[in-house]
Amino acid sequence: MWRRTRGPLAVALGFLVLVPAGTMPSAGRIWRRGPVVTAQASEIEPENIEQVWQVEQNTEYETYSNGLRIEKRFEIGNEPRRYHVYPRGAEDLGGRQERRAPAGIVFHTTESQLADFREDQTGRIRLLGGALLEFVRRERAYHYLIDRFGRVWRVVKESDSANHAGHSVWADARWSYVNLNRSFIGVSVETATQAGSDRAEATAAQIHALRVLTGMLRARYGITARNCVTHAQVSVNPANMRAGYHYDWAANFPYPAVGLPDNYAIAAPGMSLFGFNYDQALVNVTGQPFWKGLLLGEEQLRQDATAQGMSVSAYRQTLAERYRRIL
Ligand SMILES: [Zn+2]
Repeated sequence: MWRRTRGPLAVALGFLVLVPAGTMPSAGRIWRRGPVVTAQASEIEPENIEQVWQVEQNTEYETYSNGLRIEKRFEIGNEPRRYHVYPRGAEDLGGRQERRAPAGIVFHTTESQLADFREDQTGRIRLLGGALLEFVRRERAYHYLIDRFGRVWRVVKESDSANHAGHSVWADARWSYVNLNRSFIGVSVETATQAGSDRAEATAAQIHALRVLTGMLRARYGITARNCVTHAQVSVNPANMRAGYHYDWAANFPYPAVGLPDNYAIAAPGMSLFGFNYDQALVNVTGQPFWKGLLLGEEQLRQDATAQGMSVSAYRQTLAERYRRIL
């Protein structure tokens, strides 16, 4: 999902306090022993990404060597993709770089009204799916929508940004990404996540489509497996510095079936790099077993605070300040 009504985003940045430049703490004061960079050498080894190439294309569709077929009748443009990446662990100390190619994929659910997945409901399923496509196109909400029959619709062009991720953060071994509408491709599955439940389910055809679409995008842009993550894992709320503002695919994203490692087990960069926290309500809503990343992110934060000789709360504050500076 790309938008929630849980609270007004308009006030999200209202708490920011303008500090005169001369009174900002110096980098040396914040980073007593230099920035914490937690990447392991093994994480930055190049990955073997399966080759996938285009077989044919026309105005209606494209096909690819892994069986992917992309429907193009709803394709539309938006603002050209252009964004900055920041050196991981030293985001506010200079060294940012401009990029134009997508760095990753964010997986969403549409939070849709669903008809029962039965043959006698085919007409209704098609009607709901068609209305959803119109809506997604109007809002420039995602790059790709996978309908319930597993058809892959390109909506926003890959070369452009889409309004899918809102306030969001992620990081790989070298770079941090802030607000992923421009840096990550948004792929949404037509399904529902019920509030108060961690259930979000895809049909077998949708899981197959996710696999071949992910394979093609990874091959085309050299996207690492680590940068293929769900909206719940990247979503943050700057108004209260809590993670998980959106929680689509907070659980049950079929990582292995999509050909990816269990990325739920990655320490949440929002917590370890930018000081975001989480509340028990989020854990209750999303299902604790699936929030390994939050717990690992918290543990990383604790270790980094110790390495800096700071209390967890003081260290978290320096990270939050870093996030606000690069916003
Ligand atoms: Zn979403």
